[in-house]
Amino acid sequence: MVEMVDQIQNRSVEREHMVAFQVARRGVTDKRVLDAMRQVPREAFVCAGMEEFAYEDSPLPIAAGQTISQPYIVAVMIEAAQIKPGDRVLDVGTGSGYAAAVLSRLAGKVFSVERHRDLADSARRVLEKLRYANVEVRHGDGTLGRPDAAPFDAILVAAGGPEVPEALRRQLKIGGRLIIPIGELGGTQELVKVVRDGEDRFHEEDLGAVMFVPLIGAGGWGSPGWMRHRRSQSRCRNPMIRRSVRCLIASPRRASCCWARRPTAPRSSTAPERRSPAD
Ligand code: SAH
Repeated sequence: MVEMVDQIQNRSVEREHMVAFQVARRGVTDKRVLDAMRQVPREAFVCAGMEEFAYEDSPLPIAAGQTISQPYIVAVMIEAAQIKPGDRVLDVGTGSGYAAAVLSRLAGKVFSVERHRDLADSARRVLEKLRYANVEVRHGDGTLGRPDAAPFDAILVAAGGPEVPEALRRQLKIGGRLIIPIGELGGTQELVKVVRDGEDRFHEEDLGAVMFVPLIGAGGWGSPGWMRHRRSQSRCRNPMIRRSVRCLIASPRRASCCWARRPTAPRSSTAPERRSPAD
């Protein structure tokens, strides 16, 4: 624990730089979100030995072939979710636990669900060490939500699915916000914000093109076996996307190298001009 506290203090300058140059300069303005990102030690959530890269402007590999999201994308999603103090938030795709940790600084309670048991266990351990007591991590299929803890003020999904899972829509409060990447398997997705306006009324906004790891589950791309079948049957007519889908089948680890485009990045940003890495 003493070692962890030392590391956290030593990296506060890098963290400040990350917030200023990777997040705020690209247009995230919500002060509460920026402050939350200033507090959470990202180095505690990366794999051992990767701490020196914790504040890079990119996603990083974690266990089970998954990734910890790029800080900028975490900020964009959380800002769009308009989290208020006291909110109940569902976080689908715990991964490293980093996004759940940032959410925990803004919300009343965070319910996080991860389909890989090892990731759920290690994220829970880190969050406990950091004493982020308002996060509950469960192993399971997050596309089913958490009916026992619903309704939620906000739901964030950190993996891309074919459509908005009905169970998640239904677990939003009236006025609740759901942020989820929707699109082709192995291609880019659209980051979508769904707002529940009434019992059966919802409206959607597009937040930009992104590329996330696949959402695997009952309300996502089904089981891994079914997903492989879908890839080989891909109906996508774009030959470039078809090629990259074949490439993902040949090398599943590449599925974790995902990128996001934000056309709104200001030109004055010191961030690289290239497509910026995401989850
Ligand atoms: N928010 C995470 C990002 C992790 S990447 C972080 O900050 O580190 C997305 C995660 O979604 C992966 O860990 C993947 O295993 C998980 N995932 C994919 N489908 C899921 C599902 N149906 N339920 C829960 N987790 C899922």
